[in-house]
Amino acid sequence: MSLVSRFLPTRPAHLSFVSSQSLGRFGTAISSRAAKSNQLQIHRFYASSRKDILADLDQIIVSQRGGTPLNRNRDLGYTHSQQTSYQRPTATHQQYKHRPQNKMVKKKSTTPPESSLLLPTPPSSLPTVDTHTHVASTYEFYRGRYKEGKYTDVYEFVKEMYKGRNVEAVVDVWCEAPVRPLWKEFADAAMQKEKWGGMEYWFVLGVHPHDAKKYNDDVEKDILEAMTHPRCVGWGEMGLDYHYDNSPREIQQEVFTRQLKHAVRLNKPLTIHTREADDDTERILKEVVPKDHKIHIHCFTDSPDFAARLLAHFPNLYIGITGVITFATNDNTAAVIRNMLASPSAPTPTNPSSLRILLETDAPYMVPANIYDSLIARDSEMKGKKLPICHSAMVPWTAKFVADVANGVEKQKGGEEGWDADVVMKVARENARKVYGV
Ligand SMILES: [Zn+2]
Ligand SMILES: [Zn+2]
Repeated sequence: MSLVSRFLPTRPAHLSFVSSQSLGRFGTAISSRAAKSNQLQIHRFYASSRKDILADLDQIIVSQRGGTPLNRNRDLGYTHSQQTSYQRPTATHQQYKHRPQNKMVKKKSTTPPESSLLLPTPPSSLPTVDTHTHVASTYEFYRGRYKEGKYTDVYEFVKEMYKGRNVEAVVDVWCEAPVRPLWKEFADAAMQKEKWGGMEYWFVLGVHPHDAKKYNDDVEKDILEAMTHPRCVGWGEMGLDYHYDNSPREIQQEVFTRQLKHAVRLNKPLTIHTREADDDTERILKEVVPKDHKIHIHCFTDSPDFAARLLAHFPNLYIGITGVITFATNDNTAAVIRNMLASPSAPTPTNPSSLRILLETDAPYMVPANIYDSLIARDSEMKGKKLPICHSAMVPWTAKFVADVANGVEKQKGGEEGWDADVVMKVARENARKVYGV
């Protein structure tokens, strides 16, 4: 059972995601829409079934993220006992007005102060390349959760959050239809010295399967324009998502194929989102994409066999590992790592180059669960609290988890248990260069 479904029956979990207050620089238009939606949801909550509420939650997250239908499904579907990135929200003022009197007990907030987003010493201080993140959504989500937040500008947010963290580069992802014009501001900023601090800003752009039904010639024209920007390093995220089926499957397949054809023609690396659509994703990729094309299957959570088939067919395909690998409800991702270590050309700590993974956050969600030990060690007040957002400086914790999985395999086969976060960070960094040229 997901954290969401555990909480929803008794609490309209989504309500505190939206308010009429500012979501910051990019959220003004969103917030009035969200406020109306908020009112509506409050009334519907008490009248609707649990299924309806889940659907509402979906909508609200999209509104809150400025129409970004990115990874909410995946994000909200995974839990690691209490240590997920998904924050159990506190009730809003409006919510109480509609609550029965005897239930008017405000639960203690589990949201830590924003200073806790500045992380303790990471398990590796080698350069981080976050190969899949949503910078605008992360900043907007931060503004939503910390209404009085210190950072009122996305560039300042990134600079301060990553100060001294050695975040060398990010591949930012834009995947909504219609295309958000903001991509250009971010990408142009990368051409100005120091605008993003010391971080190299790159991006990919495409249409997510959830938005496939909104794909049209105009959207495609905008994508093609973005592809010519010097900071654009790929096409995506695109693919198939049969978990939620937010767009009809035939349309998802058609739009996926259409985007792939363009990307192949332009020789752009592919950022693929696939969930519970193994057969169709595999079939379409094999039909449309040349074997040696560069491919990133991002935030992989599906069957390890599916990963193995893709890795075998496409020599330049890499599996994207997010914080979801640390969640107790997901063993598939760790199983992919274990398979790689069991293969005849298995990577070793001294020769790890066949570890075909990319590290990513898919921020703003999916805080690596193993980060909490270090947070609590620094500040015992963090006990029982959860960070409401994920960001690129968290990648070393995911690397540490991968190293632990690898050492587990080595132990079993009596090999060298020399894996650590540094080795994983180093090979993933090289792989980011191989796929995206960053
Ligand atoms: Zn995705
Ligand atoms: Zn994503």
